[in-house]
Amino acid sequence: MTLSKIWVVAEAAGGKPSSLTLELLTRARALAGTVEAFYAGPDGAALAPTLGDHGAATLFTVDPGDRLVGAPAAATLAGLAAQHQPDAILFGATYDGRDIAARLSARLDRPVLANGTSLDTDGDQLTVGTAIFGGNTLVDTALRGPKPHLGLFRPKSFPAEPAGGDPAAVVEVHVADAGRAGETRLLDRFVQEQDGPSLEDAPVVVSGGRGLGAADHYAMVESLATLLKGAAGASRAIVDAGWVPYSHQIGQTGKTVKPRLYIACGISGATQHLVGMKGSERILAINKDPEAPIFSIADLGIVGDVHTVVPKVIEALHARL
Ligand code: FAD
Repeated sequence: MTLSKIWVVAEAAGGKPSSLTLELLTRARALAGTVEAFYAGPDGAALAPTLGDHGAATLFTVDPGDRLVGAPAAATLAGLAAQHQPDAILFGATYDGRDIAARLSARLDRPVLANGTSLDTDGDQLTVGTAIFGGNTLVDTALRGPKPHLGLFRPKSFPAEPAGGDPAAVVEVHVADAGRAGETRLLDRFVQEQDGPSLEDAPVVVSGGRGLGAADHYAMVESLATLLKGAAGASRAIVDAGWVPYSHQIGQTGKTVKPRLYIACGISGATQHLVGMKGSERILAINKDPEAPIFSIADLGIVGDVHTVVPKVIEALHARL
């Protein structure tokens, strides 16, 4: 352990810290003597027990009311960072995380390393791992300039594990003036309804690719996912083709998943897809081409037609109900 203090910018939904926040806290506490959290939003104090349980000793919380969170959060965070001097500030690669990190980077005149998938220390320097060239090459970048170092991390880069700590001590902070940028108001919020677990949290993910042949055939991917109490994902090819919404896309420009079981149906296994699912515990691939690259990372491969194999699996599962 070589850093003295790491901050994590927390996010929450439905009154609970996001999984990504807990993942960052878990990693931070392995690297620094003190871990603290910053949260911009309503009811910050309600997050203190879970954040504390994952390693945050203190929670700085600010409520920007109906303002768009990025500008007031960055202005407030800049003031707090000057006062408390954290070695590093970690953000989740979310819309708000990116917004706050970019604005803070400009305010503090510090670079921000985006798209991190690993985090380590080298002496008192922070090293952030990122995937480049479509996931073909992994690069470790050390931040050597003045602190605080800023990093944005992709979901599921680290496990989220409770440490059994006390609730974080809550410090309520006033919103700093962010000038004209801080005047943007949030007028409405749209939450996409979903049945079953989210892709990021599902223990089983069943994904379909161009090998399904037609948009209608995605229904069998969804049926299999539902039967396995999982979520349905997709390759970019079928998102681009308009068969399924972008929210299903897995890969470099989509979501990263790490389920216990990932089932790829008619997906070739392009590197841009693999970077989003190769951390799955077990991978089952169904593809009619025995040379398909997906088989190189599959624990179990079925060389066959998805239109034959998937209905058979569904039938067998139904027979067990
Ligand atoms: P294909 O590559 O066309 O593969 C279809 C597979 O189905 C083949 O292997 C074929 O053998 C098999 N098949 C065909 N018929 C059957 C059948 N009846 N039964 C069984 N198998 C069958 N891709 C992503 O997925 N996610 C990303 O986030 C992503 N980001 C990208 C970012 C960039 C900058 C770029 C350049 C590309 C990105 N891509 C991404 C695209 C990626 O390179 C591939 O084009 C895409 O993943 C291919 O999707 P696919 O496997 O469904 O289709």
